[in-house]
Amino acid sequence: MSSVNDNKTPVNPVKNTSTKKNAFREGSLEAPIRHPIDWQNPEFYNEKSLFAELERVYDLCHGCRRCVSLCNSFPTLFDLVDESSTMEVDGVDKKDYWNVVDHCYLCDLCYQTKCPYTPPHEWNIDFPHLMLRAKAVKYQKGGVTTSEKILSSTDAVGKLASIPVVVHAVNASNKTKTIRKLLDKALGVHPDAGIPSYRSDTLRKRFKSDESQGETNSEVEATDETNGRVAIFATCFGNYNEPDLGEDLVKVLRHNDIPVRLVDKEQCCGMPKLELGDLASVAKAKEVNIPHLVKLVDEGWDIMAPVPSCVLMFRQELPLMFPDDEDVQKVGNAIFDPFEYLMLRHKGGLLKTSFTESLGTVSYHVACHQRVQKIGAKTRDCLQLVPDTEVKMIERCSGHDGTYGVKTKYYDSAMKIVKPVVKRVKQAKADHYGSDCPMAGRFIEHALGDGSSTEHPISLIRKAYGI
Ligand code: SF4
Ligand code: SF4
Repeated sequence: MSSVNDNKTPVNPVKNTSTKKNAFREGSLEAPIRHPIDWQNPEFYNEKSLFAELERVYDLCHGCRRCVSLCNSFPTLFDLVDESSTMEVDGVDKKDYWNVVDHCYLCDLCYQTKCPYTPPHEWNIDFPHLMLRAKAVKYQKGGVTTSEKILSSTDAVGKLASIPVVVHAVNASNKTKTIRKLLDKALGVHPDAGIPSYRSDTLRKRFKSDESQGETNSEVEATDETNGRVAIFATCFGNYNEPDLGEDLVKVLRHNDIPVRLVDKEQCCGMPKLELGDLASVAKAKEVNIPHLVKLVDEGWDIMAPVPSCVLMFRQELPLMFPDDEDVQKVGNAIFDPFEYLMLRHKGGLLKTSFTESLGTVSYHVACHQRVQKIGAKTRDCLQLVPDTEVKMIERCSGHDGTYGVKTKYYDSAMKIVKPVVKRVKQAKADHYGSDCPMAGRFIEHALGDGSSTEHPISLIRKAYGI
């Protein structure tokens, strides 16, 4: 059986980024670096070289197995190896390689929290971006179904479903058994999966009638790291499904004398399309969003999004897809996670800490896409500023991951992944539970199934302020 301790040279090594002579090291001591995503190079879509790289990395992962508990990709791979005739990667049928790819939802945890062999280590493993390349190849080959394309069109679906006359029909039908059976047949949505409700009073509509947009009676105060003026990228989920969350965020920011406005125009950040391997659609979304965002950045606005995946898209994935685009880099450097921002204001002595309500015990789930931003546990730190509040943190994937938790073919697997999270929430006997990712929060609520409701940490901060 192969092992990472075999001291063997990786099979078919790709670009060796190590500046040192090839002495083998067990794990890298240097800070990980990330290569740009070479998605515009025709070689990126060369299936033969993709499969050679998959075989090389799968073999190394098989020898290592550190990531076995993170998601269902790794157990799928290890089962394939263990059940093969050779009990090695060379015994696995190449067509089964796709099963591993299909179970990856690009949470990035294996790269950011587990793998010691990321570049500059000579093994040069970037598992999530290898999965992304495989997804892009699959997409280009026509291997993605129309229903998957529809499910990932969060903006188009949201626009349609939030039309006032349509919204009630959509929300009501999503609760009927017959429609759910049809949804399963037509779109591959599991009949028991929790489907988010749509709202006709979207965040962007609410803000249109908000005459005080961007105004405050106080003077704008900057800190070393923040300009003190925030433009919110509403996000599809924040706009069409959970506009109350955006409103809570605005209230909290304004309470801290921070002028707030919405970005003039936006469309989906592109994360659902990235997860499908549809990189051309990601590029199209970038063409729409970046000019609006960069204009605001040039005018001195900080950018913020209430969904960690969307922040990650602008902060990490787009800059890696467009390394030479200065505007993309500029937006990537100017976008903030809400709690990262609040704690930077706190560091600058500008966050109000005169809370009027304690929160008791909060069972707080750290969203993977926030965790991999490497900003630290800022949500926990902020919640703990509230007197008589104890935060119990859960650092495990919830398993919802965009559309993974609603698709019939992955629903059981997602419900298995969320189990330990649910157990921790129950054990906490908390007064509140929630996640930075509103979708993860809803998925945990669905898996709990006890009639309780998730509360986003930003909504809890609003509550603690008594505003
Ligand atoms: S990126 Fe996330 S889902 Fe994909 S293989 Fe790594 S841990 Fe699993
Ligand atoms: S991604 Fe890295 S840490 Fe995870 S199983 Fe593979 S080699 Fe090991």
